[in-house]
Amino acid sequence: MASGLFIGGRWLDHGTRVANINPSDTLDPLGDYNWGTVADVEAAVAAARAAQPGWAAVLPEARARLLRRVGDELLARADELGRLMAREQGKTVREGRGEVIRSGEIFHFFAGETVRNHGVFTPGLREGFTITVSQEPVGVIGVITPWNLPLSIPAWKIAPALAYGNTVVFKPSELTPDCAFVLTDMLERAGVPAGVFNLVMGNGRDLGPALIDGCDAITFTGSGPTGAAVVAATAGQMKKVQAELGGKSGLVIDKTCELDLAVEVAFQGAFHGTGQRCTASSRIIVLDAVRDAFLDKLLKRMADSRIGHALEEATEIGPVVDQRQLDKDLGYIDIARTEGGEVLGGGSVLERPHAGFYLAPCLIATTNNGARINQEEVFGPVASVLAAHDLDEAIAIANDVHYALSSGICTTDLIAAETFRSRSRAAMVTVNAPTAGLDFHVPFGGRAPSGYGPREQGIAAREFYCEYKSTYVNVSGHL
Ligand code: NAD
Repeated sequence: MASGLFIGGRWLDHGTRVANINPSDTLDPLGDYNWGTVADVEAAVAAARAAQPGWAAVLPEARARLLRRVGDELLARADELGRLMAREQGKTVREGRGEVIRSGEIFHFFAGETVRNHGVFTPGLREGFTITVSQEPVGVIGVITPWNLPLSIPAWKIAPALAYGNTVVFKPSELTPDCAFVLTDMLERAGVPAGVFNLVMGNGRDLGPALIDGCDAITFTGSGPTGAAVVAATAGQMKKVQAELGGKSGLVIDKTCELDLAVEVAFQGAFHGTGQRCTASSRIIVLDAVRDAFLDKLLKRMADSRIGHALEEATEIGPVVDQRQLDKDLGYIDIARTEGGEVLGGGSVLERPHAGFYLAPCLIATTNNGARINQEEVFGPVASVLAAHDLDEAIAIANDVHYALSSGICTTDLIAAETFRSRSRAAMVTVNAPTAGLDFHVPFGGRAPSGYGPREQGIAAREFYCEYKSTYVNVSGHL
């Protein structure tokens, strides 16, 4: 497979070489890869700008065919690429396979969008006037992505960008270059014209400013502080921006819940993906009436979980992505203890036959929702538990956090479910399902400060990747 930078239709092999580490086994490096320079970003932006009018003029069906080919290949190679992702990022091979399939489906969805992007025709307000409202591409889109969903986030940004006639400069996470090479290689072989899609690798802090300066719009997913810096930089230039950021999702366990289901929802929501999901159920709010029974079962489920090498089929929870994230997770466990939290289970570094970053999923009981463990995103397999006397108090706790991405409730009471849905501040709500692992055909994204700008995914994606044009035609012969 090709690797390096992909600019103007050519693979370039220069720049600093950086090792790509397997978090399940640090003695199994995936290889070295190149970090580019600001000059590479400028060249990529120039190539994308030159190619954009031609790409916008390509017939929608031809754009659809290209996207469909990429989707087909992702689906056909789900097993192989799921393993690559497991090796590179540390999610389990099952999760990796699922993400590749999801990415293929996203490319198929947006292949369909190329021919569904209808405008509006309406009579005007004056005699003899008609108006058409059409949607045009924005231009060159800068795509900046994190490491936790290394194929599906790029897919849900790149596929709509290309579908609606934009060109792309893609800057993936430093930690997951191989997934970016795979996607670039597929796009190239699917026939993407030179300059329409470009890949630059490297340190976001160094390359970000040139990307923001050069592109017409920036779609960013990552941490809150980086997102805020990106939004601030675009604001000065009045550029279109979309930022999907962190979360601290509250999951309420109602007294009427179906207990075994609620335990599984909480376990998967908090710890699948090694808890490294913006939508992870990282605060579990349990009503007093079911607290003891729920915690007994959840702690048993955690103790029984299979934590290990991501490539082993039986593994349920893979390693944390790197040493830095592991240190951060352990640091938050210490902070929680210092602030009065009690570790109910997990939280220790695990020895495995391979040297990796293994952490036992950790559950911390706290009484103070203002504690840092309840207010700050850890982004690891670390969740807290809070108690509530009744549903009102549980909803108040769930909402008492500055993030507003997702939230959930486990209940069999229809009124409780609807009350929670309507009063939750989060942008996405689940009932009897984990707060993470959401569908691609409906709007995805958070309210500020978990998100900024138009939502992603589904047909909502058009809001970001297109600009409206309203055209007035006067056939009356007079004014
Ligand atoms: P990060 O903010 O460190 O990095 C994200 C990307 O930004 C990387 O490609 C990085 O190179 C780049 N970057 C860094 N500094 C930059 C700068 N100054 N200008 C431009 N780009 C820059 O985030 P991460 O550690 O890769 O990912 C984890 C974070 O992502 C978590 O906070 C998580 O909640 C969030 N996330 C959010 C969503 C969502 O949709 N809301 C989804 C997944 C992950």
